[in-house]
Amino acid sequence: MQTVRTIADLRAQASAWRQGGGRVGLVPTMGGLHEGHLSLVRLAREHADHVIATLFVNPAQFAPNEDFDAYPRDEAADGDAFSNAGAELLFAPDIAEVYPPGHVTQVSVPGLSEVLDGAFRPHFFGGVATIAAKLLIQAMADVAVFGEKDYQQLQVIKRMARDLDIPTEILGAPTSREADGLAMSSRNRYLTEDERAAAPTIFAVLQEITDGVRGGVGADDLCAIGRARLLDVGFRDVDYVSVVDAETLQPATDASRPARALAAAWLGKARLIDNLPV
Ligand code: AMP
Repeated sequence: MQTVRTIADLRAQASAWRQGGGRVGLVPTMGGLHEGHLSLVRLAREHADHVIATLFVNPAQFAPNEDFDAYPRDEAADGDAFSNAGAELLFAPDIAEVYPPGHVTQVSVPGLSEVLDGAFRPHFFGGVATIAAKLLIQAMADVAVFGEKDYQQLQVIKRMARDLDIPTEILGAPTSREADGLAMSSRNRYLTEDERAAAPTIFAVLQEITDGVRGGVGADDLCAIGRARLLDVGFRDVDYVSVVDAETLQPATDASRPARALAAAWLGKARLIDNLPV
């Protein structure tokens, strides 16, 4: 696998592949790789002849009090893992390549970005939509794969690509989980042993909510019980436990439309998020 650090080199390789008649797939990540990221590369490989993985810890999506400095960075290990999973090109730019002096343009996706995580991390989806738009435009891939683990992010990116007429198809990939149900995350490494033992409760709570809603129990009651259970097992703060419309992310009022149960809660230093279809 070749590594490139400039947008010009990324474009040159991607357009050479396209001109040769190959389909190009893109998998953006911030590194700290786990099996979930690699499943995205494999899914991209099923939909494309050549896969570009990207490695960039995007400062624009971290607030000053968040873990930008502590975020795991190991390009050599991540590069090997991407290569073994079938990526042919790694785009690992430095910050000045992505945000050169004078860079001011922001992409915002109002509405979708303001609820759930957006209410607790107001800077976050602006940073995500901006970097995702830039990477999609830089690579001009045929298909780009993002994880359903970050369900709201996936909806924001789909809407952004549609609204900006970016021709890349946006694919969602299922969430990869540990054997006990905990969604894999680069941030799980912040958990102590006791916290790691409590962490799968977030998945268990979401399962109880989706089972309960299907059985006719009111979502608000189920979410209140779920929130209490998280606090009971040691989560220190629950940002939200909600059932929302799967597309608009607004409160689910129409039982005939697909819904999604989502939760975000703090366990020690880690903020864990997870979601399940209802
Ligand atoms: P990140 O490096 O955390 O920004 O994630 C890069 C991509 O991997 C995003 O599209 C995430 O949604 C996706 N991802 C992260 N964790 C998982 C997981 N457990 N299963 C599937 N995809 C994931």
